[in-house]
Amino acid sequence: QPPFVEVDELAKHYFLSRSFSIKSVDGVSFAIRQGEVLGLVGESGCGKSTIARLLTRQTSPTGGEVKIAGQAITDVDGEDLKRLRRTVQLVFQDPFGALDPRMRIGTSMEAPLAQHHIGTREERRDKVMRMLAEVGLDESFYERYPRQCSGGQLQRVVIGRALLLEPRFLICDEPTSALDASMRTQILNLLTDLKRRHGLTMLMISHDLRVVRHICDRIAVMYLGRIVEVADRDALFKTPRHPYTRALIAASMLDRTGLYAPEIQLRGDLPSPLNPPRGCRFHTRCAHAQAKCAQAEPKFEAASESHQVRCHFWRDLQPDRPAQAGSP
Ligand code: SF4
Ligand code: MG
Repeated sequence: QPPFVEVDELAKHYFLSRSFSIKSVDGVSFAIRQGEVLGLVGESGCGKSTIARLLTRQTSPTGGEVKIAGQAITDVDGEDLKRLRRTVQLVFQDPFGALDPRMRIGTSMEAPLAQHHIGTREERRDKVMRMLAEVGLDESFYERYPRQCSGGQLQRVVIGRALLLEPRFLICDEPTSALDASMRTQILNLLTDLKRRHGLTMLMISHDLRVVRHICDRIAVMYLGRIVEVADRDALFKTPRHPYTRALIAASMLDRTGLYAPEIQLRGDLPSPLNPPRGCRFHTRCAHAQAKCAQAEPKFEAASESHQVRCHFWRDLQPDRPAQAGSP
């Protein structure tokens, strides 16, 4: 059975002039199996959100291909595009921006159902009531306005609204970044729960490793428009192969424990995607960089059957380092 989502050499370049372009997404390939949750992690500005926009056809790629449920999404239009828009739903960071402040929650949730001509008014209302319960909100929310809800409650509304269309693929772009820690856990647990109940395939985009660790089966790490490492969740945290992944893990451990190993600290800022470094794009910040790294871009290599890494020297690194540094 082919993967539910297949992304092949996807690119989005913004051309500023004949010789300058921003390579926001630059040759990204990955696959998501039916029912799997793939995490996409990296610093803000690395191209994660552009991937979400490409996968939902809000913007067109400048190269590559995306197939969802076997269908190439770049070619679809008319009825097929409408069906695609139901199949793939997007939940993003800011629930306040996602809802019309002048509309009651119930009306907002019913709107996409009406647009897709699903059910009678009565049936749509019933569906919304049931969905409110499913996302952990009582009936009173139907009549409320967004300003009468907390950020966490609104994110539940937005998730419920997305699920009302019975999508098969849910993309979440930083769905918990605007929420505090306890709310974050609640929303992630809700998503895990809904994913099981509805048999969803998911892409979870976040700059926060704790978020992807909580919910994902497999994780892809992105740096400046490229994926630099992909592995099963436990393998990624136990034996991270790429210096960037190791630095991200160390940084997230640092938050929690105050411990860190200086050689795996992330140095400096993310370079501009307008002028990405030659060779390995990470070489300007990598503690392990050698002369070769500034010249030749590393290939994506298999460290194991389900673990790929883009680094010339991954074999020389001791993979257990960040785990030691972060042991509580
Ligand atoms: Fe660091 Fe070189 Fe590996 Fe890039 S290729 S991550 S610069 S060691
Ligand atoms: Mg983003």
